[in-house]
Amino acid sequence: MERELTSVDAGWWVVSHEQKIWLPQGELPFGSAEQWGLVGSRAAAIGEWQGDSVWLIRENRSESMGSIRQIIDLDSGLFQLAGRGVQLAEFVRSHRYCGYCGHEMHLSNSENACLCAHCRQRYYPQIAPCIIVAIRRDDQILLAQHARHRNSIYTVLAGFVEVGETLEQAVAREVMEESNVRIKNLRYVTSQPWPFPHSLMMAFMAEYDAGELQIDRKELIDAGWFRYDALPSLPPPGTVARRLIEDTVALCRAADEQP
Ligand SMILES: [Zn+2]
Repeated sequence: MERELTSVDAGWWVVSHEQKIWLPQGELPFGSAEQWGLVGSRAAAIGEWQGDSVWLIRENRSESMGSIRQIIDLDSGLFQLAGRGVQLAEFVRSHRYCGYCGHEMHLSNSENACLCAHCRQRYYPQIAPCIIVAIRRDDQILLAQHARHRNSIYTVLAGFVEVGETLEQAVAREVMEESNVRIKNLRYVTSQPWPFPHSLMMAFMAEYDAGELQIDRKELIDAGWFRYDALPSLPPPGTVARRLIEDTVALCRAADEQP
């Protein structure tokens, strides 16, 4: 689906190489291919944002190549498409050779896939499913400080789904491993693609069932049950974690206000 750009092509430009993205002046470039010196580059249309095409160019611009984290405050739809571009570029870079027979591969003309002409194997971009869950106990919410975060925020529990597991099993296992707590009434809330490097976060809410809080020191620095009106420092608005916390706080308040 890649083709050579001409001077009439325009839109948003996701120029990506080795997980980096081109951000001249710290921003995602928008405008004509001519204006950005992209005429003649090979590009693939990877989506549309508010009526304008979003293009992926797998190239290194060497200057102004940054991290997609720098544009995390963009409109979520545009950020999602930029993340899609970076992940697709990385998918192609990591699939130059067939894992079965070792022959060089080529891009499919009809879908996002890498094909091996020698053994006919077909490879698709990898997505790592990940669960994130807010747990409520009456008017309290379970929040933890994660060892992998460098800041002091408290947030909900999360982890990767393992091979052969259902989402429900993954949530129950992660919560048990990290906090020694058993949950009930698991409910799906929303999902969010998370391009660091290729996760899909699936967000849930649950209620406390049993168990004494005991944290896994390898994963967590601290954890506790926090009353909804006395919360510690939280993840920023716009994150799926923050949304889960706010939805849970609403349930806590309702539980608290019941006669
Ligand atoms: Zn092969």
